[in-house]
Amino acid sequence: MPLFFNPLHPLTIVATVVHNIGVLVHLDGADASNDEEAIAEDMAIVVNRGVIEQVAPSSEVVDEYGMEAVEEHIMFDAGGRAVVPGFIDTHTHLLWAGDRSQEVRWRHEGKSYVDIAQLGGGIASTVAATRASTPQSLFFRGVDRMKTALRSGTTHMEAKSGYGLSTPSELDLLNTMDRLNRESGLPSLDITWMGAHDAPPGATISEYTDALLSDQLPAVLDQGIARSMDVFCEPGWFSVEQTSDLLTAGKKGGLDLRLHVDEFTNGGGGDLAVEYRVQTADHAYHTPLETRMAMTEAGVNTGYLPGTPYAMGDAFPNMSEVVDNELHFTLATDFNPNCQTLSLPFMGSLMVQRAGVHPMEALKAVTCRAAATSPHPSGLEHGVIREGAVANLNVLASPHWESWSLQPSHSPVWSTMLEGEMIQHVR
Ligand SMILES: [Zn+2]
Repeated sequence: MPLFFNPLHPLTIVATVVHNIGVLVHLDGADASNDEEAIAEDMAIVVNRGVIEQVAPSSEVVDEYGMEAVEEHIMFDAGGRAVVPGFIDTHTHLLWAGDRSQEVRWRHEGKSYVDIAQLGGGIASTVAATRASTPQSLFFRGVDRMKTALRSGTTHMEAKSGYGLSTPSELDLLNTMDRLNRESGLPSLDITWMGAHDAPPGATISEYTDALLSDQLPAVLDQGIARSMDVFCEPGWFSVEQTSDLLTAGKKGGLDLRLHVDEFTNGGGGDLAVEYRVQTADHAYHTPLETRMAMTEAGVNTGYLPGTPYAMGDAFPNMSEVVDNELHFTLATDFNPNCQTLSLPFMGSLMVQRAGVHPMEALKAVTCRAAATSPHPSGLEHGVIREGAVANLNVLASPHWESWSLQPSHSPVWSTMLEGEMIQHVR
């Protein structure tokens, strides 16, 4: 039995037995063509020290542990509800300050991106508000947001810096994320440096790229908190050449690579993702099909972020093309000042109820497939319910597992087990 687990969090000592599960979508063997193999009935789960110790038929487990809670065990009755793995959000801009709610009205009134910037809106306003915030106030914003995500079943989140855009403020953001990752009772974080999000006020992208390479990236590597880096590769922002220089330097420094590509136009970011075999190239709304296929062949994931077109009034990507061609994809929230959702079930609803994606495909995209691009800090497997994996799971409020993607306005999750600790959500 491994004496796990997330080294950043305290240990859960008492074993928990989750029994009376209706349907268990464990996703063990989820890549098999037959999804039935990823589902089981009449199962129970034994969890010890934050790790799944046993997944076995209920009768076997109940024989071993009895039905009553005894000193060493907590018996958790799932009441015939469906159980699925904890959700993994692979793309969030977690930490920023300010409030740009008025911009939606300005857009409705016909104001352009430039007009909004002149009125004091846009990313520059978020950067100014973030820089003016203390690390402590950003920490509390982070706690609040992570609790909100947990309420919708998220047990792990990728989190990017990128609203500081100067070396000291980017380092502060990464440091605050590291503090958040050490808090127990919150989703774990996978921390990404995204200094290359936009140019700071007063600098061109070209000048800022030079500063990133000569000053900010070395400082980030020295700090040693970020696991990955991300670049906003898009015509008008970081060009393919500038992105390439940044990826080369980051890779040399030992960072894993992620990208924002082709959000507004086909700018060649998808090809660059293939060249560098990045872990994930996200948005990709305008990436041509042959490039998406090359990405899959190269082992590059595409992260679809349906909250962004939802918030901006744009069309969703053609998901039937993605599913029919068996392209690797994940779904994530892209939480940011213009897309203020932290709910993966809402992303599931957008894909299942609005874009023709099968609920099982969508579920894999926020669990086992998401885990492949965002490892758990313990180094153990997650996004799947099997022996040896982190004990992150959701007990849904329904006996039907499909319900995870059918409640866009409120959480479909009844309870969440986070690293072995069962959290009963208020309903
Ligand atoms: Zn993003």
